[in-house]
Amino acid sequence: MGVIVVTGIPGVGKTTVMKEAAEGIDIQFVTFGTVMADIAIEMNLVKDRDEMRKLTLEQQKELQIKTAEKVAKIDNVIVDTHCTVKTPKGYMPGLPEWVIKKLNPTAIVVVEADPEEIYNRRSKDITRNRDPDSKEKIAEHQQMNRAAAMTYATLSGATVKIVFNHDNAIEDAVKDVAPVLK
Ligand code: AMP
Ligand code: MG
Repeated sequence: MGVIVVTGIPGVGKTTVMKEAAEGIDIQFVTFGTVMADIAIEMNLVKDRDEMRKLTLEQQKELQIKTAEKVAKIDNVIVDTHCTVKTPKGYMPGLPEWVIKKLNPTAIVVVEADPEEIYNRRSKDITRNRDPDSKEKIAEHQQMNRAAAMTYATLSGATVKIVFNHDNAIEDAVKDVAPVLK
């Protein structure tokens, strides 16, 4: 199975979908942002994960490389991460060449939902400091992520699977992603 990358914009529910899909399967689950936040906190750069995307691009890139090196050491793994990270300077690639080549995934899963669904989920999530994007901006972010995913596929030979996680339909998403985990 190798490395499977799972992506989706904040609030789409990618962690929930993939954790459920991976239930009973012998594969590790790593959240790129958690490993990265641990490193960033240890370096005294941030206090929580939602501050990282506001760091300078040089700092984010350094953290990204450190994280990729750590994660690439694991053999059979689902890596929960982002095709693009929305920074004040624009969309930063989550898997630029030096990261995608290290991870070398066999599949990239892109979890999506309707912009309105994502908008509502974000407003309900008080555990995270989510960006207050409009529905139009959410749609734009998803568009950028699709484009980025295909570029990463070109660099790695991975397949790209788009999975919809609509409201009250998580079982459909889990079913849809199952072939990727075989
Ligand atoms: P998450 O918990 O998935 O929302 O990730 C938390 C944070 O980790 C994101 O907001 C980013 O700042 C950072 N992050 C996660 N994956 C990447 C990546 N591939 N490249 C750069 N930053 C990332
Ligand atoms: Mg998550």
